[in-house]
Amino acid sequence: MPINSSIKPKTPARFQQALFKWFDQHGRHDLPWQQAINPYRVWVSEIMLQQTQVTAVIPYYQRFMESFPTVQALAAASQDRVLAHWSGLGYYARARNLHKCAQTVVNEHGGEFPRNVEALAELPGIGRSTAGAIASISMGLQASILDGNVKRVLARIHAVAGWPGQTAVANELWDIAERYTPAERTGDYTQAMMDLGATLCTRPRPACERCPFANHCVARAQGNPTDYPGKKPKKEKPERQTTLLLIEHDGELYLEQRPASGLWGGLWIPPQLEDDDGGEASAQEWLAAQDLDAREIQPLPLLRHTFSHFHLDIHPVWISLPSKPTRVAEGASGWYKLRQLDRPRSAQDLGLPAPIAKLVKQLVALREPLLAPC
Ligand code: SF4
Repeated sequence: MPINSSIKPKTPARFQQALFKWFDQHGRHDLPWQQAINPYRVWVSEIMLQQTQVTAVIPYYQRFMESFPTVQALAAASQDRVLAHWSGLGYYARARNLHKCAQTVVNEHGGEFPRNVEALAELPGIGRSTAGAIASISMGLQASILDGNVKRVLARIHAVAGWPGQTAVANELWDIAERYTPAERTGDYTQAMMDLGATLCTRPRPACERCPFANHCVARAQGNPTDYPGKKPKKEKPERQTTLLLIEHDGELYLEQRPASGLWGGLWIPPQLEDDDGGEASAQEWLAAQDLDAREIQPLPLLRHTFSHFHLDIHPVWISLPSKPTRVAEGASGWYKLRQLDRPRSAQDLGLPAPIAKLVKQLVALREPLLAPC
């Protein structure tokens, strides 16, 4: 389709009118965080929804709210318990910041979220867009958001070229977002923009024929909506290797807690040999260095886990020991019943990263006949 230079985006008032009309008929109104709205519930949902789809978030959100119904309950919980509720959602820094932020709100703000965007954005893990979502949805303040969905919608309507990770592009999108944000119904406006991006102006297949902005969208007029927003310049993801030692004695697995920050920070994992693809041979060397004899050693199938910035190839080796060594490592560690580690996340007291939970399942299947019920 040729570029139609007569296409002009709507004025803010007409933009809002068209959006509300669409939202009232087609928006989502029964998501769990749209019930009993308060800053705490909105905040938790916004953090969970970063980098994660609504359908995946819903069960996590419900379990989280059952266990931590208030910011006070979350602040008082142990980090292990918070991470256990996050196990499988990924991007664990979000959970650690969530916990830290709850403690800041309780200790420094008397348990109430501050009622302005700037103060909200100073809390741990809350950026400008999340602060805007909390302020508009739960406080009715005139505050803008610019999450991934909104960036996409606005970049398309205005044909804003370039990758939004670049400051100039982000600034242009923020200006547009602020221009359109109304003084009334700000919560509905925020929700409507997110819904439009998630359900209609989707990344791969925008349903332009059903869009309230179809006749005013420059990218549509150009015939190339999926060219917006511009993509991040591509870099190949590097591959890393690790040998993971699943040390077991009579149905109990030895785990160590990762340091609080960094990869899988605060979560519990078996000992790992970093930058090592030796598998069983490396496990043998490790046992010899520790002066330990194994009853049985068995390599398990290679497991690839992809993080945002690299692939991790995990070479798991199951090592059955005839007795528990007195000391394996410095730092927090312990022996845990495999059956208990294999329980649903809501019943866990330890945070396990998703690939470790998978390996536990394999180990339980392998050891099934020998494991006592927990
Ligand atoms: S017309 Fe198409 S590309 Fe433009 S905002 Fe609507 S769905 Fe997105």
